[in-house]
Amino acid sequence: MTNINLEGEIVFVTGASRGIGSAIAQTLGQSGATIAGTATTEEGADRITELFKQEGIQGAGYKLNVSSLEECQQTLSEVERLHGAISVLVNNAGITRDNLLMRMKEEEWDDMMNTNLKSVYRLSKLVCRNMMKARSGKIINLTSVVGFLGNAGQSNYAAAKAGIVGFSKSLARELGGRNINVNCVAPGFIDTEMTRSLSDEQKESLLNQIPIGKLGDVSDIANAVLFLASDLSKYITGSTLHVNGGMLMD
Ligand code: NAP
Repeated sequence: MTNINLEGEIVFVTGASRGIGSAIAQTLGQSGATIAGTATTEEGADRITELFKQEGIQGAGYKLNVSSLEECQQTLSEVERLHGAISVLVNNAGITRDNLLMRMKEEEWDDMMNTNLKSVYRLSKLVCRNMMKARSGKIINLTSVVGFLGNAGQSNYAAAKAGIVGFSKSLARELGGRNINVNCVAPGFIDTEMTRSLSDEQKESLLNQIPIGKLGDVSDIANAVLFLASDLSKYITGSTLHVNGGMLMD
């Protein structure tokens, strides 16, 4: 059996206050990494710190709105000052702003791009200087099955998630020679607050498209991220790991 040991790694996980991000922070933390996990409020950040204390995980929670360049710069400098240079970046934070295109407002499009796509450009750029110096690092971006299949009512979300894939492939080509791996994880439908708002009818129709016959668990995604954060995946870059119960076979 291979035990994944991330001791010595400094991991930055955005959107670690709940859902998939919280599971990623805990799974990587339990493997020995120091985790800086973010929430959009001070209370959320404090809850992350408290949870880490209870679970014996090294690291803390930090407040961050990924759509603000200034906050990204400040939070990252604070984390690097306290814990050292980030060696693994997990761009997980994300929102939905669903609407049919005919009704979609400019701000629903712009919020989506700023929070789900521009944040990935922004944070990757901020961490990669130190990773290049260290000649080592991992950047793991959360995309979605919707970025590959499309979904009526989610043209903005699908565009942002497909954009993350193109961005990651390009960055993987830029940074491969520096021993920095850039990969994506594309969840299918996972049981979190994001999917709890779906109607029973929507859930029923979704389940009919999933050969494994159920929604995924947050741990299914956290385990995929754990693999990509470890040296077991050192020859994988520019790839997307699909975790979707067979909904999309690629
Ligand atoms: P979630 O339960 O809705 O949690 C979203 C997380 O993102 C929270 O921690 C939230 O922080 C944070 N966040 C929201 N806006 C932010 C902002 N402007 N700046 C910083 N952080 C922000 O979402 P999830 O279901 O765990 O999804 C996590 C990722 O997986 C997302 O990128 C999502 O698109 C992707 N994904 C999810 C599914 C699914 O089925 N759930 C499927 C495919 C892809 P607060 O708690 O402070 O609000």
